[in-house]
This record gives sequence, C-alpha cells and structure tokens, in this order.
Amino acid sequence: MTLEEKVGKTLPELGVSDAQGVESLFAEARAAMEAERQALISRGAANEKGHDQECKTLRDRWLARKGGLVSLIDENWLKKATKELKPVVGREFNQLRPVAAGLEVQALLLVVPVRTTQTISQAGRIPSAEAFGVATVSHDLTLPGYRPPLGSIHPITQVLREIEDIFLGLGFRIETGPEVESVYYNFDALNIPESHPSRDDWDTLYVDERTVLRTHTSPVQIRAMEKHGAPLYIIAPGKVYRHDSPDASHSPMFHQIEGLAVDRDITFADLKGTLDFFARKFFGEKIRTRFSPSFFPFTEPSGEVSISCVICDGQGCRTCKESGWVEVMGCGMVHPEVLRHGGIDPEQFTGWAFGLGVERYAMMKYGINDIQLFYQSDVRFLEQF
Ligand SMILES: [Zn+2]
Repeated sequence: MTLEEKVGKTLPELGVSDAQGVESLFAEARAAMEAERQALISRGAANEKGHDQECKTLRDRWLARKGGLVSLIDENWLKKATKELKPVVGREFNQLRPVAAGLEVQALLLVVPVRTTQTISQAGRIPSAEAFGVATVSHDLTLPGYRPPLGSIHPITQVLREIEDIFLGLGFRIETGPEVESVYYNFDALNIPESHPSRDDWDTLYVDERTVLRTHTSPVQIRAMEKHGAPLYIIAPGKVYRHDSPDASHSPMFHQIEGLAVDRDITFADLKGTLDFFARKFFGEKIRTRFSPSFFPFTEPSGEVSISCVICDGQGCRTCKESGWVEVMGCGMVHPEVLRHGGIDPEQFTGWAFGLGVERYAMMKYGINDIQLFYQSDVRFLEQF
C-alpha cells in the first residue's frame, strides 16, 4: 500500500491498534516527506522556472489544505483515532508539523543567503541562488528552533511589587510622578528650607536652576494632594537621584517608595499600626518594630522605624552592629505646611507619611551586601532570584 492510499484510511482500517503501530506509521510519513525534500534539494535550482514548479508541486502534495497528505493524516488518522490512541497520534502528528513547516520554507527558499529578507521585500519573491552568485547551501530547516534563554523579574522589581501588593491590600493606591521635577515640588512645597543641606549641589542633581532630578519620591505627595484632595491613601514607588559616587551602599540612582495617608482624625497610632503590619507582612510575623524620634522638614513629629534584626532576631550581630535593630524607614505626621501646599486644610485633615529605600529592602531580604550588583546586569547574579 502506498502512503497516499494509507492516508486515505483510518487507523483501524490500517490495522493499527497500538502506540508502536502509530509510531512506525508516522515514521514512514516523515521519512517520505524528508526523502522528497532531499531529492528536491539535490536536483537544485539549475532550471529556475522548472524548479519553482517542482517546489510548488511538492508543497501542494503535502501541505495543500484540501487533499494534501498532512491534511488527510489530520483528518483520517488524528481526528478519527480512538480515545486510547489519541495522545500518541497527537504527539506524532505534532512531530510531523515542524518537518512539514521545514518543507514549506525549504521549498520556497532552497538556498539561504543572508540577504534574503531585503531581497524578498524588494522583489516580492525569493530569487534563486544564482541571482546572488552564491553556491547552493542547504540548511536543515527542520531542526528544532533555538530557544532563547528566558529572563526573570529583576529583584528590585520583585520587591517593589511585593511592597506595593501589601499596601494595595490595605486600600492604598499607586501614584507616580515625574523624575525630572521642579525645585518647587522637590523642596519648597515640602517645607524644605532654602538653607537645607540636601539642596546643595553635592546631593542634588540640578537640570537647571528651577529643575532637578528628584531626590526623593516625596514630591508625589504634593502632586497627589493637589490632584485628588483628601481623604487620600497612596504609595508612590519610583526612581530617585542623588549626587553620590557609586559604592557598596550608594548609587546615584535608586528606588524609593513613599506612603501617604490623609484623612480626618489620623493619628500617630494609625501610622504605627500600619507600618508595624507592613513590617511583619514583609519581613515575617516574628518581626518587632521600634519607633525612635528623628527630624524631617516635611513631617512633625518625625520618626525612624527600626525592625528587630532578621539575622540575629535582636540578639546582636555584625549586620545590626550588635544593636539587635536595623533602621528601615523614615516616617512622621505630615507637616501642616505641607498639607497646605497640597491644598488641604490642616485644621480639618491630618496625615502621616513614610519613605523607604527599595534596594535596602532587597538587600536585607536576599542577604546582598553590594548595591551595585543590582545594576550590573550580570546574569549569574540575576538568575538567582
Ligand atoms: Zn543582628
């Protein structure tokens, strides 16, 4: 029985009732297809017109949607296969597909000079090898394709998303703002006086006299208050810039997340409760938080949040400099001046805010001791996450 006759029959009609029979049937089909393809190649493109016709004939014989051998195999072998045999027939059929696709390409291409793409678009068709003045080179286009390595999500992005998720779960929403920011939003509106050292060129990258690369994500506070008014519950993740030389703990660009809650009757207790919840969610239930007084121009009172050291559980180790505590963010009650700059009446509303460095969280979470590793695009480092 020829292959043409076989593809016109169902598997039971062919007496095929087990996986082995299916496999040898498909092997026969693949071998036939491959043999015909090879024969076409070895006859070459000597006669361009005749060759084009041969390519078309071979293609139609196998791949024509109606009456092509592959369609008939699909129709008679695959679709009519018994439930038991279907998986193996399906698998074999799938192995036939790339060979068939190779036939399609090979029939059209035959020779594969590198310049084809451009020439195809110019000529609207693929010229023969002679048109290029190159010898006929056949590539085995039936080989499986090259699978490019899969990437993974950068650890900073992972940590950003994790922190965002915690606050989204608490009803906060995400706000963003420009990285090239006006001096007004970056400093003035945040109650940072003209004389504050962070305005100095040493810390701030100035674009011009009134424009900076934002040194923190806090300007988003003002922009969000102006845009949405109160009540307001936002976090603002993003890149910030400082005039710092890169070393193990500094980078001229890094990521921050700013948090802001403004509502009636917001107190420091709300701030403590929220940040305590967040720390336990992010670092683990055992974590304890400690609030200590600090100073920021845009909050009053201001505080620093420390967590019990994740390495030694508060016993004291090198990471926490034997103190048992690691500082993880700054926070405080929003300064009335800042609320006013955001267009919110401090007599009616109060709020709290915090800011944290995302790189620091990623370093603590994964035990990384050099911030530069995040920016070096070294796959050996990145693929660990
Ligand atoms: Zn420790």
